[in-house]
Amino acid sequence: MNLQSEQQAKETGMQVSLKEAKKILTPQRRGFLAAGPYPYTHSLSAYVGCGFGQTTCGLYCYAQFLPNWTFGTGGAAWGKAVQVKTNAADLLAHELARMPAQERQKLRIFMSSTTDPYQPTEHSYRATRRCIEIFSAYPELDLLVIQTRSPLARRDLPLLTQIPYAYLSVTIETDDQAYLKKMQGGPLLEQRWELVRMASELGIATQITVSPCLAYTDVAIFGQRLLTSGAQRIVVDTVVDGDGSHGSRTARSPFARVEPAWDTTIPAHLLYNYLTEHAPAQHIELGWSVAGFCGIAPRAQRAL
Ligand code: SF4
Repeated sequence: MNLQSEQQAKETGMQVSLKEAKKILTPQRRGFLAAGPYPYTHSLSAYVGCGFGQTTCGLYCYAQFLPNWTFGTGGAAWGKAVQVKTNAADLLAHELARMPAQERQKLRIFMSSTTDPYQPTEHSYRATRRCIEIFSAYPELDLLVIQTRSPLARRDLPLLTQIPYAYLSVTIETDDQAYLKKMQGGPLLEQRWELVRMASELGIATQITVSPCLAYTDVAIFGQRLLTSGAQRIVVDTVVDGDGSHGSRTARSPFARVEPAWDTTIPAHLLYNYLTEHAPAQHIELGWSVAGFCGIAPRAQRAL
């Protein structure tokens, strides 16, 4: 950790600890990543905990309720501690190398479901970067989705251009910066739009996840911005449809305490309907909730 990062960690009160993981590719047999139409085979998290946990998304983030968080970090508040899996890239290299090539070709990996791979800690520890370097040596996988809301992903765009099966998926849950700020903030929306634009201009497959759809400015304004962002796919989700418990998990989350309209799905449906009407003309693929997240076709079909 460099001096600047140490200073940042002190200022934010973030506890950063290091751990050696036993495995890095986690098979997906149930849960939202294993759903149809095109399930993921594995998830990959190079961190435990998430440095965005004290921002708006931490209000409803389901990862804070999972046991690996509670067991791993000694009861720290969500967003106040992060464990770095220092051997993530070594494990990935080992696990990929020992797989037969035919098995590697079937790999569909979601990075990450319980942390943001480009959270602030990645600035100095580069655990995500090192994993992506490993992927760049294996051209035959089916899919690698890198899910983030962090502008730090810009750093690795040149590397992503070398991975033909990579999809950069950027969370843009609203177009209303004032609303986001009023909640608990988060990475600036303009920087996320810029990340999508840059990735798409470099030829990287790019997706935006409006997940969960929060209050936005206007359906046509947000809808048009999404449709002209450069993203090839757009997924819209709600906390009711996508939290894995039909909203009961979110009902117990801090989000339900600060947002009286937390369980309304009407804005999300209005946005999805708007996109459905206008996306086909622009050849943009749309998805709703879990089926949208698991809606990226196998690579042979994507190339058609
Ligand atoms: S970035 Fe993702 S994993 Fe991190 S706190 Fe927000 S929702 Fe949770």
